[in-house]
Amino acid sequence: MILFKKAAELITYLQTQKNDGAEIGFVPTMGALHNGHLSLINASKKTAALTVCSIFVNPTQFNDPKDFQKYPVTIEKDIYLLEKNGADVLFLPDVYEIYADGTKNLEHYNLGYLETILEGEFRPGHFQGVCQVMERLMNIVKPDHLFMGQKDYQQCMVIKKLIEIKDLKIKFHTCETLRENDGLAMSSRNTRLNDDERKKATAIYKALSFLKENLMQKDFTEIINEAKNMLTENNFKIDYVEIADADNLEIIHHYNKGKKLVALIAAFQNETRLIDNMILTNEHNLK
Ligand code: AMP
Repeated sequence: MILFKKAAELITYLQTQKNDGAEIGFVPTMGALHNGHLSLINASKKTAALTVCSIFVNPTQFNDPKDFQKYPVTIEKDIYLLEKNGADVLFLPDVYEIYADGTKNLEHYNLGYLETILEGEFRPGHFQGVCQVMERLMNIVKPDHLFMGQKDYQQCMVIKKLIEIKDLKIKFHTCETLRENDGLAMSSRNTRLNDDERKKATAIYKALSFLKENLMQKDFTEIINEAKNMLTENNFKIDYVEIADADNLEIIHHYNKGKKLVALIAAFQNETRLIDNMILTNEHNLK
């Protein structure tokens, strides 16, 4: 694996690879890598000749400065895992490499409805920051294929919209969520949970599974309230529990046969905010 810290050097290297006909797969991350990230590396390796991973904790997407300061950093272990899993290139820029002119007065993206709901509502400015960094990274790497996790469902939709707005020729791949044995979605933030919080955190997966199992049994308001109870009984402070149209994230209140539905949850286990989602309609699962 080759490590680049400078964008200009990476651009030159990737251009020679492209001139030789190599397709480039890109896996952007914020590090503290786990098997979920590594599954994206694997997906890229299956599709593209050259897999580029980036590790950059993007300051502009953190609406809570404490969250940014506490974001886990495990760079030596990350490099080891990437090498072991066959990544070809690691891009590890510092903040000036990405935001040469600073992080104020950056481009504003018109994300419309997508930015007004769920993560957009509870983390104001978050998706603007995600787009600001992703546009820069995609301009540097110029990938043919981009791999991102369904774990961040709304983020996938935002980046697909960014690709559309900027008319980029990039094939977007949504990769399934990897989970721990008890169902908890793998996340860099899980390392912040103490033993008690970690045990309680599995309530998110249980609540999502409950929604899926009871989708056609009762009114959505009723099952959502029961799912919320499952979370609060486990000390979660809830931002949202919603069922939405999986194609556009319109919030849905009644079962409608044939519509692809997704349940989405965001909640705090003390200081740690966790998100997860599940496609509720079996016929629409990724696999
Ligand atoms: P992050 O480092 O949290 O920004 O995540 C980098 C990429 O990994 C994003 O596309 C995430 O959606 C994806 N990802 C995070 N957790 C998982 C998981 N448990 N399974 C699959 N992909 C994941």
